[in-house]
Amino acid sequence: MSRSTEAPNADRRRLLKIAALGIAAAPFASSLLAGEASAAALPMVDEKDPTAAALGYHCDATKNPARKQADATCANCMFYTANPDGKAGLCQLFQGKNVCAAGWCTSWSKKA
Ligand code: SF4
Repeated sequence: MSRSTEAPNADRRRLLKIAALGIAAAPFASSLLAGEASAAALPMVDEKDPTAAALGYHCDATKNPARKQADATCANCMFYTANPDGKAGLCQLFQGKNVCAAGWCTSWSKKA
């Protein structure tokens, strides 16, 4: 008899825990989304920027004769984090700026 009342209570407790976790995680989820949105609003790296020029960065990897691997682009570089649109993203070497997903520079390292 007591088993039939414990099971609904256990389910209720589990539901309350899940709801509490969801409420606790909500601010982090919204700040992550805000971070993605603000990253997309950052300016693009100018190929004439001194650091970009030193690294041979080009927004179009196919225009870079120094590139040896045909499939090497910023999109599959370990320093790259894609923006939601997938066309550009953040590079750890260019703080506060985006690089083209189809770009490339001499610091390219294959993403694991
Ligand atoms: S380090 Fe990687 S992501 Fe950054 S510009 Fe060079 S190839 Fe692109």
